[in-house]
Amino acid sequence: MIEVDDLHKVYGSTVALKAVSFRVEPGEILGFLGPNGAGKTTTMRILTGYLPATSGTARVAEFDVHTDSLAVRQRIGYLPERPPLYPDMTVTAFLHFVARIKGVAAGDRPGRVSHAIRRCGLEEKQSVLIRQLSKGYRQRVGIAQAIVHDPPVIVLDEPTSGLDPRQNREVRELVRSLAGDHTIILSTHILPEVDATCNRVAIINRGQLVAAGQLGALMEQLTGAVSYDLEVRGAPAAVQQTLAAVPGVASVALSTSSTQMDSRYRFTLKAAARDPGEAIAATLVRAGFGLCELRRHQASLEDVFLNLTTEEAAESSAAPTPQTDASTSPETP
Ligand code: ATP
Repeated sequence: MIEVDDLHKVYGSTVALKAVSFRVEPGEILGFLGPNGAGKTTTMRILTGYLPATSGTARVAEFDVHTDSLAVRQRIGYLPERPPLYPDMTVTAFLHFVARIKGVAAGDRPGRVSHAIRRCGLEEKQSVLIRQLSKGYRQRVGIAQAIVHDPPVIVLDEPTSGLDPRQNREVRELVRSLAGDHTIILSTHILPEVDATCNRVAIINRGQLVAAGQLGALMEQLTGAVSYDLEVRGAPAAVQQTLAAVPGVASVALSTSSTQMDSRYRFTLKAAARDPGEAIAATLVRAGFGLCELRRHQASLEDVFLNLTTEEAAESSAAPTPQTDASTSPETP
């Protein structure tokens, strides 16, 4: 449904996008993640036909965003970071206006507007002036204007920015409910939003795509080996030697935060196998050490994100781009 190939964008001396390529399949929600200034808005604006790329191509529903810009705009609903709302219009009047400029036939407009109002939970606010709405309701109006012409593709740029936790949850649920009927790109730097909403994720840093794939697979691949935190009672050198000999253990280190207390020491352990926790526990107990704590460290999306978007990661971009999903990951990283 969305095909982006080798996109570059240069603003004067700023290179905002470098060789960005990705796919989004029909009905998917892709989380487009990146820190401030990574190039998310630039990508969204190119995809929606509001900004030309310097080079490369982007297609939406088979139409080229540059050469078939009008056809693309009819097939895409866009919620920019700051939605262009008219504060002196009522919700209904504004949605009628948007439906008209998006080319919805006059006879279809009442039905489309009612549908968008219902879908976005705006029934009680339909006759209210937009200026009188809370930020959460304005955001819903922003989403309603993005779906009023029933586009197959919806692009949402930071849709929950500035919302309180309850509004956040409501907007996320709304976005989730739109998937299936629509293909969605959700640009954000809010990680729980991606965890809660998206099937797949693309991570962009300094204008380059650094990872793309199914969230679970990506995390497993990118976080690599499982690690453990342990607290063990016993002589540290002997504990370390015993742990190092357990099959599936790659390395053991006495933790720098280790403070000897009641002959207990803390260790960090990296595993080479998938999950050697049981063998670790059994070996320690068999060897007569006191196993006070064994905690498997579960890497989070935040770990993955920070790992990929820190300065060091950006500078070592010569390393191969991690890809977990051959059918949908970047073709030309
Ligand atoms: P944020 O999360 O802060 O909105 P972003 O990921 O959306 O960031 P972009 O807004 O796409 O990032 O910006 C990418 C880079 O391009 C940044 O370095 C930004 O300063 C630069 N940039 C964006 N728009 C322009 C412009 N009109 N002129 C010059 N540079 C720009």
